[in-house]
Amino acid sequence: MAQSIQAIRGMNDLLPEDTSIWQQVEKIIRQTVSSYGYSEMRMPIVEHTNLFSRAIGEVTDVVEKEMYTFTDRSGDSLSLRPEGTAGCVRAALEHSLIYNQEQRLWYMGPMFRHERPQKGRYRQFHQLGVEVFGLNGPDIDAEIICLTHDLWCKLGIAGDLTLELNTLGNNDERKVYKENLVKFLEANFDQLDEDSKRRTHTNPLRVLDSKDPQVQELLKDAPTLYDYLGEESKAHFTKLQELLTSQGISFKLNPRLVRGLDYYNLTVFEWTTTALGAQGTVCGGGRYDGLVEQLGGKPTPAVGFGLGLERLMLLLTTLGKIKVSSAVDVYVCGMGEGSEAAQLRICQQLRAALPDFGVMNHCGGGNFKRLLKRADKVQAKVAVILGEEELKNGTLTIKNLRTTEQQVVPETEALELIKSILQQSAVEA
Ligand code: ATP
Ligand code: MG
Repeated sequence: MAQSIQAIRGMNDLLPEDTSIWQQVEKIIRQTVSSYGYSEMRMPIVEHTNLFSRAIGEVTDVVEKEMYTFTDRSGDSLSLRPEGTAGCVRAALEHSLIYNQEQRLWYMGPMFRHERPQKGRYRQFHQLGVEVFGLNGPDIDAEIICLTHDLWCKLGIAGDLTLELNTLGNNDERKVYKENLVKFLEANFDQLDEDSKRRTHTNPLRVLDSKDPQVQELLKDAPTLYDYLGEESKAHFTKLQELLTSQGISFKLNPRLVRGLDYYNLTVFEWTTTALGAQGTVCGGGRYDGLVEQLGGKPTPAVGFGLGLERLMLLLTTLGKIKVSSAVDVYVCGMGEGSEAAQLRICQQLRAALPDFGVMNHCGGGNFKRLLKRADKVQAKVAVILGEEELKNGTLTIKNLRTTEQQVVPETEALELIKSILQQSAVEA
């Protein structure tokens, strides 16, 4: 026997049980972003490598060590997208969507990072991304946070997520702060772990979210960015907090929250949970007013977030908030001469009359017991049975598979009965 080939580590197959849950959640996501008036973008999965190094930053973890980069047959350096913002800005610029216009956009799809696979951390994972261009006030920052909060409410997990909030100030404020932070880190260099030592001169802000306990202890005495903020930045941050409070959204200020990508300024936020162990950040985002210009456009304010769908699904299933739902509602089966054509016809009629339900035809014949076993296996709610008697009399046997009650009715009355059984089981679920 030939050796079997396996999937790439950290890249998961989603099986029917998984897709049942994913589809339910994706539906709620689509419905939520649409209810805010946001429009969908679909970008390619592969982009020029320099898009990411320029947008995300040369010395970020993502660009330094997590990208899937390859040279294609034309000799171009391409990368699988590690996140969606860079590609979304690229596409919006390329198609003149943002010059002198406001845009509120979303996308959903796979991202790729060469990380160490573990629970909640994969090499192919999926994100919902939301990006807004052309608005610079705290009101839009509040809007996208409200949108995420709405989503948690609809999914029944609002109580399980904490909003962490910080501001990174503007470029000048951050620059002065960075210089002072670097001075502090240099003065305490021997107490830093290896990563933090390296980052002191490449990406000092990242030292703030070092996981090393000794570094965390040391940072208690480090200068904080708040003390370097000007009036405007302070006002933006204060207003955002007021708006969130006015909507009953509580938050925790976290002055160490800096996010992993270079492009953020002012508002940054994360939604975290304690229910998933180490990979507790379900959603993260913030303002990135410099990125559009950095990628060749006119200066354009922008704000957005990325939401990790795998972590969201893990949270929902861990908390038991969502059930696998069957793809089949009505199972049509028959026995005896001529039943195949009648089954096909009945199925077509039911599909036309019940477009929101799954109608499955039984193929492969068999006795009554076998038919009902199949209907149970696919977790149908109703079985429609066509025996010899039924074929002869123009009737159908309709069996409620939850209560096991069954009734023989004329074909013309079958639809009403099936509908009422489906309605009843929807109420019970
Ligand atoms: P982390 O700190 O967990 O590495 P990050 O800061 O790298 O996250 P972002 O780039 O902000 O993450 O991406 C937004 C969201 O995408 C994260 O909050 C997380 O839910 C999800 N995410 C990021 N990387 C992965 C991954 N390798 N596997 C699964 N989900 C991921
Ligand atoms: Mg990461």
